[in-house]
Amino acid sequence: MDFSPIAEIFEDMYKTNSRLVLIDHLVTLFNRTPFIIIKKIIYLLQGKLSPAYEGVELGLGEKLTIKAIAESSGISVKEVEVKFGSVGDLGEVAKEIAKNKYQQTLIREKITIERIYSTFEKIAKSTGSQSQFIKLRLISSLLNDATPLESKYIIKFLLGTLRLGIAEYSIIDALAIAYTGNKNNRKKIEETYNVYTDLGTIAEILCKRNLEGLNQLQMTPLKPIRPMLAERILDPTEGLKKADGKIAFEYKLDGERVQIHKDDSEVQLFSRSLEKITKHYPDIVDSIKKFSIQNCILEAEIVPLDLETKRIQPFQELMHRKRKYNIENVIMKYPIKVFLFDILYLEGKDLTEYEYTKRRAILESTAKKNRNNSIEVVKQIVSSELKDIEIFFRNAKDDGCEGLMLKQLNSKYRAGAREFLWMKLKKEYDNTLGDNFDLTVIGALLGRGKRTGYYGALLLAVYDKNSDTFQSICKVGTGFSDRDLELIYNELKNYVVEKKYYNVNSNLKMDIWFTPKLVLEVIASEITLSPLHTAAYGLVQKNFGLALRFPKYSGRIRVDKKPEDSTNTSELIQLFNRQVKRNKL
Ligand code: ATP
Repeated sequence: MDFSPIAEIFEDMYKTNSRLVLIDHLVTLFNRTPFIIIKKIIYLLQGKLSPAYEGVELGLGEKLTIKAIAESSGISVKEVEVKFGSVGDLGEVAKEIAKNKYQQTLIREKITIERIYSTFEKIAKSTGSQSQFIKLRLISSLLNDATPLESKYIIKFLLGTLRLGIAEYSIIDALAIAYTGNKNNRKKIEETYNVYTDLGTIAEILCKRNLEGLNQLQMTPLKPIRPMLAERILDPTEGLKKADGKIAFEYKLDGERVQIHKDDSEVQLFSRSLEKITKHYPDIVDSIKKFSIQNCILEAEIVPLDLETKRIQPFQELMHRKRKYNIENVIMKYPIKVFLFDILYLEGKDLTEYEYTKRRAILESTAKKNRNNSIEVVKQIVSSELKDIEIFFRNAKDDGCEGLMLKQLNSKYRAGAREFLWMKLKKEYDNTLGDNFDLTVIGALLGRGKRTGYYGALLLAVYDKNSDTFQSICKVGTGFSDRDLELIYNELKNYVVEKKYYNVNSNLKMDIWFTPKLVLEVIASEITLSPLHTAAYGLVQKNFGLALRFPKYSGRIRVDKKPEDSTNTSELIQLFNRQVKRNKL
């Protein structure tokens, strides 16, 4: 299949401001795509070569890309650098340069998806001393034959700056429309995706017009499933009311959520957003390999420990584990502990249909049989007595926990769902909101005075799943240290777009707009009605959205969250209603 019409669709996607138009483009694309390459198309749309959890990185730097553009067009590296300096986007630079050259080239081999894909795969696989040279040849040869628009998207893909911003939900909608003729089938597709997170394989089955075929996609070790999430509550009584009698209380640790997969001698670890994080924790991998189990999927929270006292440390200490080099040294200096809280799969059996109590018993016996000093099952009590709970809560705080998790005894594991089957109760439950907000940065005002050269305030948004839009909820300018300002500025500059992004919904005037990517944690005192902000606009009161009062950056970038995992509009409305109710009391 030719790449050219796809590059055109990518260009249209960049230009559109409407999600419906974007889905239309996707539907057209899917209808034109033959079965044999649908998988590749899906991964390309996601900016990847394979499902994200496989962690295949193209890892191409700007320097090498500039060289390739220069080589394929016969102009000097210096000239490409100068153009890059003025345009700011290497994709655009490649397009401009290719425009001049393209007319002069008489013999060209067509660029097909198959060719692009196999070249990208070769680039990803090439390692060793000759790898830079090989990569350069491979890219130049593609660019030699590419049209200007194709060049733009080849370069963007290679650099990891494709950022079409298509949420998985939009791809799922388009798959439902294109291959089943009924948008309502998105529910079934999403349910499958929750336990089988390879959208390429899902699309292949649907492409054969075989919705029922999705039933064959079952949970499998080494493929992460979407995590079950918790609703917020403000005090333990609220949790007890939701339960029919007793409920399980577990320590809520503040570290990194991990899904541990074992299949024979292979162990892989996945983050909350299903990225492979195995290489950060070789010590955990070694411990799990020793388990006398053929295959399993466990869920746990990894927390940093103090080297001397072995007490739990703030989550930031896990940062040291993200280093690429000298990890052996880091393991010694920055010990960790794994607190298991669930088991989803054991010896070929899916356990997610078992009730919590049964899964917890299996988890405990599994951990007991495979004793290990740095792995333990998270502390738990089962009770309906407020007195017990308060003591447990106090102990949790003393032990360095963030609060408690409440889990309904008869709850099944519902992948990807946020319901009251699990509830979270944080330390600060005496504040009216009970939790922080995880918000996506969509725009910024340039800094003045001390902040010249950085951003002065950031415009933040909640996510609305129904419309797949990011809706503004507040501007935040406080809580940033000088280091935060620099760090956030450097991160955000990768996401600057010329105009408001197509799925950003805001009425405010900003100096800069961003592709929704970066998620920040924010503290606020209250949720208020706002005529300016678009969060949950018109849903609580006509002509009003919701806003945060006195928002402040908490100091935490939620690297473990995708923008679609930000606080969403239904959570926001729920929190607002609860605040109104409490204020009336
Ligand atoms: P938060 O912002 O509170 O970390 P979140 O949005 O990442 O929340 P939630 O489902 O809302 O995810 O909160 C549950 C999180 O708490 C889990 O993702 C997990 O990382 C962490 N956690 C700590 N201890 C436990 C536990 N005992 N059971 C389940 N999750 C736990």
